[in-house]
Amino acid sequence: MKTRLVVTALAAAALVGCEANPVSGRQQLVLVSEETAQASSAQAYAQTLDAAQKKGKLSTDAALNARVKRITDRLIVQAGNMYGPSRSWKWSVAVIDEPTLNAWCMPGGKMAIYTGIVRKLALSDDEIAQIMGHEIAHALLGHGRERMSRAIAMQGGMALGSIVAGRDLSILAPVADIAITLPNSREGESEADRYGLELAARSGFDPRAAVRLWEKMSAASGNGPPQFLSTHPSPVDRIQKLNGLVPQMMPLYEKAR
Ligand SMILES: [Zn+2]
Repeated sequence: MKTRLVVTALAAAALVGCEANPVSGRQQLVLVSEETAQASSAQAYAQTLDAAQKKGKLSTDAALNARVKRITDRLIVQAGNMYGPSRSWKWSVAVIDEPTLNAWCMPGGKMAIYTGIVRKLALSDDEIAQIMGHEIAHALLGHGRERMSRAIAMQGGMALGSIVAGRDLSILAPVADIAITLPNSREGESEADRYGLELAARSGFDPRAAVRLWEKMSAASGNGPPQFLSTHPSPVDRIQKLNGLVPQMMPLYEKAR
């Protein structure tokens, strides 16, 4: 009986299936549809903002909010060129007033950056663009759906049928929450580095800032790893790889500038 349930769940999962990501072309096994991932992320995002608001942790720094919005607006335009369907996403960015060194972008373009990372790393506009470009790339490349699928698997195949059918979104809100705290895969990180760099370059942000950003991040991890590094495992060769990508991104940057 148990075996049959598992088989049924796997069959249901297979219906959602294995598909080639339209941006990277990589085959991904996803247990949730794009629509479901976006709807549950929107719900988790609203809850996160609501909780932050109640604790007085939504940044009221108008200059910082405007700065982050100005940067992400440029990235969003290029995201639409990289992945057309993202043009209809209901993009949103929040600045959360917490000392944590973190930033994220959920499926469907719900973003946040924490004041901790901006202030402690004294980020320039180019560096903020690199971090948000990297996060947006995760969303365009369907990594959020992959992480949600892993979160579902971790919860022991809970109510998979209704998730697949996209009926019970309340079950998925915590999954979307867990998903942003799960580490990305090494493969996902390389993809997000590569596409994030391109996104930022095409938006007129200096690709060399990505290298500086990761150098700052790695220097900051001396006093215990920043939260960002728990969700973005940093292979030792990351800075070297980014350096290798910079020359091919420079013409895109020069053209957009
Ligand atoms: Zn990442």
